[in-house]
Parts: sequence; C-alpha cells; structure tokens
Amino acid sequence: MRCAVIGAGMAGILAAIKLTEAGLRDFTVFEKADRVGGTWRENTYPGLSCDVPSHLYSYSFGPNPEWSRRFSPGSEIQAYFEHVAEEHDVLSRIRFGETVTRCVFANKTWHLTTASGYRDDFDVVIAATGVLHHPKYPEIDGLDTFRGAMFHSARWDHDVHLDGARVGIVGTGSTAVQMVSALIERVAKLSLFQRTAQWVMPQENPAYTDEERAAFRAHPGNLAGLRQNLSDMFDLFANAVVDAESPEIQMIQQACLANLENNVHDSELRERLRPTYRAACKRLIISPDFYDAIQRPNAELVTDAIERIEPSGVRTKDGRLHELDVLVLATGFKADAFMRPIDIVGRDGMTLEQAWTPRPEAFLSISIPDFPNLFLLNGPNGPVGNFSLIEVAELQFRYIMQLIERIRTGEGREICATHDALADFERARELAAKQTVWVTGCQSWYLDDRGLPAVWPWSFSSFRDVMQTPDPAAYELT
Ligand code: NAP
Repeated sequence: MRCAVIGAGMAGILAAIKLTEAGLRDFTVFEKADRVGGTWRENTYPGLSCDVPSHLYSYSFGPNPEWSRRFSPGSEIQAYFEHVAEEHDVLSRIRFGETVTRCVFANKTWHLTTASGYRDDFDVVIAATGVLHHPKYPEIDGLDTFRGAMFHSARWDHDVHLDGARVGIVGTGSTAVQMVSALIERVAKLSLFQRTAQWVMPQENPAYTDEERAAFRAHPGNLAGLRQNLSDMFDLFANAVVDAESPEIQMIQQACLANLENNVHDSELRERLRPTYRAACKRLIISPDFYDAIQRPNAELVTDAIERIEPSGVRTKDGRLHELDVLVLATGFKADAFMRPIDIVGRDGMTLEQAWTPRPEAFLSISIPDFPNLFLLNGPNGPVGNFSLIEVAELQFRYIMQLIERIRTGEGREICATHDALADFERARELAAKQTVWVTGCQSWYLDDRGLPAVWPWSFSSFRDVMQTPDPAAYELT
C-alpha cells in the first residue's frame, strides 16, 4: 500500500507520523517549499502569533513545556513543527521543492505528477494543503504603480526597512491587528486602512516564567491538565459561535464592547472603531494592545475608502493622499481554493473543478464522491472557526485511518463517500449554518458564494463524536 501526502505543514507532518505509527511505511510527502511548516513557514510578518493558546495549539502527542507565552510567536511555532518533524524522522520522507501539479485516478491508482516532471503512483492520496494558503490581493486601481515597497502579509519582504518608515496597512483582520501592535514602536507613521471595523477581544499574553517551564518539564501531568482546561474553555467558545442566541455569545459581545468603551478614549475615534454587526460574526480578533497602538500619536486609522493607489501612496475618496514608503496588503486569503490549482481527476474523468462547481464540498470535509482513496485534512466546510486546527486534523486523521484500514485489509480496493451521504450532510449543514453567529450581518471569509458559512456549524463535541467511526452506509467500497 503506497500513500502520498501533499503538503508538509501541520497536517502533513501529522499524517506522516500517524502513517508510520500504523505501519504504513511506504509513503512520500510532497512539499513545494524547502522547509516544513506550511502557514507558519509562509507567514513571517512582525507580530505573528496564533490566537489559540500554545499549549492547545500543539500535537496531543507532542506537548511542549518550553512555550514562552500563552500565545507564542510564529517563529516559535515554526521551530516547534520543525522539531517535531525531525524528532519523528519525517524529514527523510519528504520530497522538498516538489509542487504537485496533477493527480489522476485510473486503473485503481492515483498517478501523481509534480512541476519538475517527477511521476509516481499511489493507492491513497492525502491532501494536507491547508486552508488559508493562497494570498488574496485586493482589486484596487493603480496597485502596481506604487513606487515604494509593497507586499502581501503572507509574503513579507524582510529586506525592506521599516524603522522610521511611513507604513500603510490595508485590512483590519487578525493579521493586520497583530502587525499594528508590533510595528507601532518602530515606524515613523502607521496608516491603517480600515474598510470594516472589528470587535476586539482583550486577552493578555503573559510569558511563562522559568519556574513554570521547569514545572511543566518535571510534571508532564500538569501540562496535560493545562491543555485539558484550555480545551474545555475553547469548547465553550466553539459552542457559543454556533448558537447566535447563546448566553456565551452575549458575554463575548459585552467583553468586546467594554474593551472598546473603556480603552478608546477619543469619542470620534471610538465611533470609527465601533463595528455595526455582532461580535464574533467575523472571526474574533484577539489582542491585548491593538487599541493602545492605534491611539499612539504616530498611528492613523483611515476610514475613508481607498480610491486608488498612486506612486507615492494611497489616495482615499476624500481626495487625500496618504504618502507611504511601505504598503502591506493584509487582505486575507482565497479560502475556497484548498488543494487547487492542482489538477485532480477522479473516476471516469471527473475533475475536481467540476465536482467543486459552484463551490467546494466534501463529506464531513474529508471525502469526495467519485474521488476514491483521496482524503482531505482540514478540507472544505470543516471546523475552522476558533478551534485548534491541530486537534481537528488529529481527529480527522484517526477517522481517515479507519477508511484506509478497510482497503489495507482487502475489504475493498476503492473507498469514497456516496453522493447521497454528501447531499444529506450538506443539507443538514446548511440548515444549521443559518443558526450561527456568522450569518448575523457581516462579510467574512467564512461565507461562501451564497453567503452561507462554509464551516462546521455544530458543537465541537459533536465533531469529536462524528469523527469516532465512519458510518459504513455513507461510503461506497468497491
Ligand atoms: P481577513 O480576516 O480575511 O482580513 C482581510 C482584511 O482585508 C479585512 O479587514 C478586509 O476588509 C480587508 N480587505 C480585503 N480587501 C480589501 C480591499 N479591496 N480594500 C480594503 N480592505 C480590504 O485576513 P487575515 O487578517 O489575514 O486573517 C485571515 C485569517 O487567518 C483569520 O481570520 C484567522 O483565521 C487567520 N489568522 C489567524 C491568526 C491567529 O492569530 N491565529 C493571525 C492571522 C491570521 P473587510 O473586513 O471589509 O472585508
């Protein structure tokens, strides 16, 4: 049995470790870059961190007593993934610098091709290609006329001088907010171009002391307890966002509101920072110091819409030119791309483009009818909300392994979800999605082309339950 894993980020490293544990040693991981880490390798912007606490954003089998903070910086997270990959001997299984361009299912086998012309055949393909992977560039007139340095937040140019520079940031998502706090002390002027105000949840980010880290090292049980507490806390939050009327969501709203009222002192600025939709409708921003940063004398919140980009800066609709040396596009990602643009052809010539028109779907976000033995980690419509995607991927992989086992034991040769199972799942999902806070009147990357949240709309405990064992009736085994 031969397996291909596409991507050596968090989920690809996990797949490699778990395949080895299951005794499936004939596998190859394809990675387009020259290092593991996925999103943590690609995002290197100042202030990068994860809004899931580090002790929860770790593999269950790889607790890390050394995390420096409750929300550790991105470079530490990248180092963690590199360390785990090395420790579990994953690196030797990776073909670095190989971009998978095509996967065709024919004669019960996946035929895989990479950009370098390398070809190989596999029984099973696991797509671990990530969710927020392809940068979304804004459509703004004159974008390519800017004379200064300009780049997307996920393509940070570290050669560009920031100290004492006039820096503009387009966007007010998690990325932009983290950057504002990190850059404000360094730059001469920071202009934040806000199209939509954001609710901000205050959350301190204390450092762990040497004594605390030593205690985690000495007593792994304490670490497990801490992880469990964090997990329980996140379950509460996860349950709140799927029920727009829950008391927890009211508490989140009140905490964000109090943060705005108590910490933004100028009433005019406060009104411009006040969102007109409910808290957590967009993915909640977590920051202890954004309001402090945006009130500094060298910060400007620009709320006039952008008219166009000019060689020397950004012209807003009020006619003002905001002169800049550096322009950062923190404008998010194409959240519906998943493993595309890989050209994937399933049974009877069915292409993924066809199967995913008008929008991506997969049964339980894992399996696509007509694409046998292709399994997705963190695929479409899965839990992306405010969960740890590591726990999501671990649960999904355990489920996928049970499907793979059915092929390995010779029960069949090809397995994928049935069309009926996918249709039933999508019907129920769409119905539940209408009860969530994500449809209470805002735009966000969670919403699909119909304005429905492309996410798991139930509680996280129900996700855990569903991931226990595949329902044989939902699968076609041939
Ligand atoms: P995002 O949440 O999609 O935010 C994109 C921002 O760009 C929005 O403020 C959007 O405005 C603005 N924008 C897009 N096109 C624009 C245009 N043409 N003109 C003006 N503004 C424009 O992207 P992100 O901040 O990179 O975050 C994406 C996700 O990555 C997060 O939700 C989170 O899941 C993840 N992330 C997580 C962390 C973390 O701490 N874990 C950190 C960074 C990112 P509108 O709101 O008006 O659309």
